[in-house]
Amino acid sequence: MPSILIQTLGCKLNQLESEAMAASFKRAGFTLTSSAGEEKADLILINTCTVTSRAEQKARRLIRQALRENPAARVIVTGCYAQMEGAAIAALGAALRVAPEGPGGGGRLLVAGEDRKPALMALPDYLAGRSGDLDAALSAWQEAFAPVAGPGAARGAAQEAVPWAAQGAAQGAAQETVPRAALETVPRADPFVFRPEDFSFHSRAFLKIQDGCNQGCSFCRSVLARGKSRSLNADEALERLRALEEGGFAEAVITGLNIGQYRDPGRGLDLGGLLRFLLEGTARITLRLSALEPDGLGGGFFELLSNRRIRPHFHLSVQSGSQAVLNRMGRRYSPADIEALTAEFRRLKDDPFLAADIIAGFPGETPEDFKATLELCERTGFAWIHAFPYSPRPGTPAYDFGGRVGNGEAASRVEALLDLARRGRAVYIGRWLGRTVEAVVRAGGLPPGFDAAVSENYLNLLLRREPGEGPLRPGARLRCRIAPLPELPGAGRFDAAGLACVC
Ligand code: SF4
Repeated sequence: MPSILIQTLGCKLNQLESEAMAASFKRAGFTLTSSAGEEKADLILINTCTVTSRAEQKARRLIRQALRENPAARVIVTGCYAQMEGAAIAALGAALRVAPEGPGGGGRLLVAGEDRKPALMALPDYLAGRSGDLDAALSAWQEAFAPVAGPGAARGAAQEAVPWAAQGAAQGAAQETVPRAALETVPRADPFVFRPEDFSFHSRAFLKIQDGCNQGCSFCRSVLARGKSRSLNADEALERLRALEEGGFAEAVITGLNIGQYRDPGRGLDLGGLLRFLLEGTARITLRLSALEPDGLGGGFFELLSNRRIRPHFHLSVQSGSQAVLNRMGRRYSPADIEALTAEFRRLKDDPFLAADIIAGFPGETPEDFKATLELCERTGFAWIHAFPYSPRPGTPAYDFGGRVGNGEAASRVEALLDLARRGRAVYIGRWLGRTVEAVVRAGGLPPGFDAAVSENYLNLLLRREPGEGPLRPGARLRCRIAPLPELPGAGRFDAAGLACVC
């Protein structure tokens, strides 16, 4: 069977979906290669992001590199950038064409937008059905999952119940070449086909509970690529979490585009209700929440937070500390709401790790607006700030806003935020030195004789092994005492050392 290289850009949602696609290809007998490896892959899948123009630049670089350095490989580009700019990406290489030009038709590039990503989970079936003939399988897949014209139309069509199978039926004879199983198993528009139970790129598990968003902030392109909010029903979510717990995972990251918009109308659950349902239906697995939008977190959510199985780590999409800027962004909260929210997290959890996303240089952001953002971050004492310069996104309302802030000025505002973040992190780590925490072992890139782990409160820990001890199992749960980092080359990318660790 062929080999595959999967490269992923962007958020935890994209990471999870790549994990699921990797698991699906591995199950079909593919070999997973890594970009660092010597072996050239037969198939390269690039899962893209459209949040910033830089993310798109990175994607174009990866695509060109893949086509240039792997002359025999077939390259599939999917994800939000592919959804929004399919034609621009297709122009980067000769498109892989479907019959009747015959398999491959000389081209090697296949662009499958976000709405066709679920159908990529069926591709391994096509290969299984064609004894590994990559071009024939890709061609048949292309024919079966032909895109509906244009992102907007695709978005509408996909969601307005044009389930893939129905289209298939309309095409009559052509369907015969498509394995029925794949049709049934992968309805085109089902964003929840991604349920990895083994993880090739991460030591912790991910559980996707929601996709899309109903808000439409003026700067956000993700919502254009992923569409309206949809939720995985609670029973299915519980069944998947139980499978992860039985699979030995100590922690699952609860993921979506805007998990605060989670709704299960059948059981009348919002995010808080779902988390309670998941905790009551499982025994030990802990839950870490991916990024949270500050508004829309119902009362049930806060009642749950004191539960020790909810990790004390909250990443808030704050974006600005100026009410005027928040209004132009289309955000539905105030700086005072952020302070109240973080105070509530600190009341319910023992010194949780609080992080914030902040956009610097949003159109019309004055020095006074930015000062308000800095002051909010200082007052709140975030342990980390993910600071980004505003990136104009075509198709979003803010793209046409006046009052653009110069790149240089935006960059210096980002630097000021990162400076504050570094100080906040050092203060936070200082508060935890000498304390004992739970952590999950993670794999990857360590000096000999050391392991690494992520603590419950999101600190990156370096663990020194006892003489003669072997490596710890990635994903294993342990308790250790936090201590200052040893003087070691490469230790700087860790927050602290973990001592006296017991599994
Ligand atoms: S809340 Fe706003 S920024 Fe977040 S996904 Fe929705 S539209 Fe985008």
